[in-house]
Amino acid sequence: MIPVRGVKGLSVLILGMARSGLVAAQASFAGGAKVLCWDDDEEGRERALENGFKCVDPMRGGLEGIDLLITSPGIPHLYPEPHAAIAEAIRLGIPIDNDIGLFFRSFATNSWQDFDKTPKIIAVTGSNGKSTTSALIHHLLKVAGKESQIGGNIGRGALDLEPAEDGGVVVLELSSYQTELARSLTPDIAVFTNLSQDHLDRHAGYGGYFAAKRRLFAEGSPDYAIIGVDEVEGQYLASQFADTVNDERVIRVASRQKLKGNGWQVTAKKGFLSESRKGRQVASIDLRNVKGLAGEHNHQNACSAYAVLRSLNVAPRIIEEGLNSFLGLAHRGQLVREIDGVRFVNDSKATNVDATAKALGTFKNIRWICGGLQKEGDFLALKSKMQTVTKAYVIGQDAKKFALQLEVESEICTTMAAAVNAAFSESVNGDVILLAPAAASFDQYDSFEARGDDFIAQVSALTATLALK
Ligand code: ADP
Repeated sequence: MIPVRGVKGLSVLILGMARSGLVAAQASFAGGAKVLCWDDDEEGRERALENGFKCVDPMRGGLEGIDLLITSPGIPHLYPEPHAAIAEAIRLGIPIDNDIGLFFRSFATNSWQDFDKTPKIIAVTGSNGKSTTSALIHHLLKVAGKESQIGGNIGRGALDLEPAEDGGVVVLELSSYQTELARSLTPDIAVFTNLSQDHLDRHAGYGGYFAAKRRLFAEGSPDYAIIGVDEVEGQYLASQFADTVNDERVIRVASRQKLKGNGWQVTAKKGFLSESRKGRQVASIDLRNVKGLAGEHNHQNACSAYAVLRSLNVAPRIIEEGLNSFLGLAHRGQLVREIDGVRFVNDSKATNVDATAKALGTFKNIRWICGGLQKEGDFLALKSKMQTVTKAYVIGQDAKKFALQLEVESEICTTMAAAVNAAFSESVNGDVILLAPAAASFDQYDSFEARGDDFIAQVSALTATLALK
């Protein structure tokens, strides 16, 4: 755990007692703060009490005397409207921060003076590919023999990580909710994977969403900015950050276009990663058989992670070895099983349109399991991606409404079990049964992981039934 600095003697109220909140309470206490907690759910309050913290209701006088409010990413702090406790804190002028802000102001300590190599923080943001890219960077660092820890929006909360070791590296995955609010954001290397519509309600639209991610670059002024420039927002970010056209503090990453200019660039085209500097190609890697990183979108992730390692002076040969041994993450294009030449792929994390479009572009002969809690955004973009889809099997409480928007033959299945069984009964050798919902899971599940686990369970049940025949 990383004790929070600068809170000694202060009264800190922690709002939200899930994973990051509880650790924020413990880390603030370790830093000498007087800690109070709150969660709207009784379960959360019980967790606080079990860990020795007192709960006070911020909507009933609990904010009195509070010096700092720490909130959790799941709690709206501004849009569509602030949580009542945050609205009151804003009205009272109480500073508001989150565990990420606390982490950045607390990670460096005086003991670093004795280190040979200063620890580094790598922060990854963007609409899609954050977890994959973060996990890949973490893996590549280990292959390169560096001490690496990973946390933030993946795995452990940022304050739950260990204090830095000599030369250690921390990889932080950061969501827009986290970057928008953190009062300190000072990574050494910042990565922007890409931008597409998501979470628009929490940021009052696309501009607000982009602005939240941009803070990582504008506030932190990292030594290196690794920026996906396939969208205009990434191009804008790169040109804003660079001091000159060829400024090598910016590494541009592209997977859908050739880049002009003589700056530092990493691109993927037709399955080949290519690094160029000063107008010359300096390295290239064949990604076509890298099993853990299938598809154009994963090649983009490979380029971003490669660029991070290159900015740390790791040799292309070592990075190539690491790319080949990366296994990929569960629920992101995960091959679950193959039965009679039919592959079952779990991409439950495809909760938005862009991630789903990428999944549909990765395979052919797709029997597509989709549906769930639909998000605000550009659903029309999926219409042009139907060439690879044989039929859709729609799940979710609003399956009928969802199916009406699809321009492909569809069947209302509602449950995962019905969808898996219907898709398999109609499949032929060479088909891919793909769960890529293009929707959040919360109408039927607690999380995208639970939805992906249900898919896996239904595939196992199917396998067991077939074995009995
Ligand atoms: P995030 O942490 O940003 O949500 P993940 O790595 O967990 O990203 O992947 C989320 C979804 O997006 C998955 O469906 C995955 O297959 C897809 N995906 C992964 N990388 C990319 C990318 N670079 N561009 C678009 N979609 C991607």
